[in-house]
Amino acid sequence: MYISNITHFLNESGDIPKQIPEEARELASFFALVVDTTTKKNNPFLASTEIRCFNDNCEGIIESELVKTKKEIHWICPNCQNEGIISEWQGTKWDNI
Ligand SMILES: [Zn+2]
Repeated sequence: MYISNITHFLNESGDIPKQIPEEARELASFFALVVDTTTKKNNPFLASTEIRCFNDNCEGIIESELVKTKKEIHWICPNCQNEGIISEWQGTKWDNI
């Protein structure tokens, strides 16, 4: 389970820094994409995104939902059970609400 405060992955300008390790960058880009898609849909129940799971050898498509009571985004891969929670996404560049 990934518990992620997305602001921890961003620089002062609210961007994903270019000078961080590739693995961290990929993860940060994944979280940004999940925030972008989920806040566009604004769905309170798990729904499919078009985002591929980042686990090696997994072909799953991520599902996500906006947990309104906790103001968090919950995502899960139905294929490998890779799962996480993203917080502090409000006001980032990928917040479409
Ligand atoms: Zn997966």
